[in-house]
Amino acid sequence: MLSQGQFYIPERPPVQLPCLSATRSPWVRPPVQAGGIEFFQGTLDSTSEIDGARVFDTTLRDGEQSPRTSFSYEDKREIAAALDRMGTHVIEAGFPVNSDAEFEAVRDIANSTDTTVCGLARVVDKDIEAALDAGVEMVHVFASTSDVQIEDSMHATREQVVERSVDAVSRLQDAGVEVMFSPMDATRTSESFLVEVIEAVTEAGTDWINIPDTCGVATPRRFHDLIEMVCEHTTARVDVHTHDDFGMATANAVSGIEAGADQAQVSVNSIGERAGNAAYEEFVMAIESVYQVDTGIDTTGITALSRLVEEKSGVDVPGNKPVVGDNAFAHESGIHAAGVIENSDTFEPGVMTPEMVGAQRELVLGKHTGNHSVRERLQDAGFDPTEDQVRAVTRRVKDYGAEKQRVTMTDLKEFAKEEGVEREQEEVRA
Ligand code: MN
Repeated sequence: MLSQGQFYIPERPPVQLPCLSATRSPWVRPPVQAGGIEFFQGTLDSTSEIDGARVFDTTLRDGEQSPRTSFSYEDKREIAAALDRMGTHVIEAGFPVNSDAEFEAVRDIANSTDTTVCGLARVVDKDIEAALDAGVEMVHVFASTSDVQIEDSMHATREQVVERSVDAVSRLQDAGVEVMFSPMDATRTSESFLVEVIEAVTEAGTDWINIPDTCGVATPRRFHDLIEMVCEHTTARVDVHTHDDFGMATANAVSGIEAGADQAQVSVNSIGERAGNAAYEEFVMAIESVYQVDTGIDTTGITALSRLVEEKSGVDVPGNKPVVGDNAFAHESGIHAAGVIENSDTFEPGVMTPEMVGAQRELVLGKHTGNHSVRERLQDAGFDPTEDQVRAVTRRVKDYGAEKQRVTMTDLKEFAKEEGVEREQEEVRA
């Protein structure tokens, strides 16, 4: 059943790693056709706004900073191994100066993975030394640039912020690691001071500038303008880090990429400080499916990765969570289910299928169920119902569902028996 839904997995070009926008050739979208239907119409019929996008995963750092979440050493190793297998471009494994256990986890992840592993550090000597001692390939240093954080978090002055940032970048540059600098709270920083800091750390040789929307106040259009402005003031590659306080984290990350950023920081299931970060699964699938740009990531591992992080973080994934929620590819209402039985692209994105993320499509029985779903499920279960019997069983399903009862296959079979529906094999035997 539902085999019709499986033919929209688009042919993908060979995986290119790393997918640096400067070196990769853009994938020219093939015309995808199904059943004679021209598929890329409407907003999907667009020129390519994005050349490429790299994925910096911070599940093990910002994700772990979720209130009430703490990963064990083993949890971190297991999640990092999954991210590495899937081809994630950078794994931010933690904050090495935080504790001995954290240091060991970061060190062992750096040793055991193929991808680039990053450690976080303040613009403070002991943090930088801990990160370097952990043997990471990339160090991410950050300093507050908004006045509110400079005064009431760092307890410093703008001049000290610039001086310490430049010193930290120079020290890391001398050590030979890849350097990423973040002006923390960039979206609440005066534009002239932000430019001053960006130009100073660029001059000091940072490889990357990450623009964090630390408190989640950006909107896609404003963030686009900000990233374009940043790109005009640096030769470093640009990365973005967005938060979901107003539900715009992934939209802002994608907007940053459209504006010229090469990479976005994301976390699995969007866990992280407060409302969390841009979601790994949303960002990757938006780039792959909506923009039709290959990230190089094995998206078929996404559902298993989400379940792993859900279990280890203790943060439940809501049913309506994009891509990985239980309802992401589930259908109950009569019109939708009937359409999906005929062709899953009728009421799914079409450019994203459950197979692409390692999930399965589900027809849920309940108050909104129609005859098509019931006939399909009865036939799957080996029944051979007449049209009258389908209608009678559907009525029973709807009434049961309306009482907020979950309708299981056992219930459905019971209804079928009570309505006198015959089994296909019984007919054969008779
Ligand atoms: Mn953050």
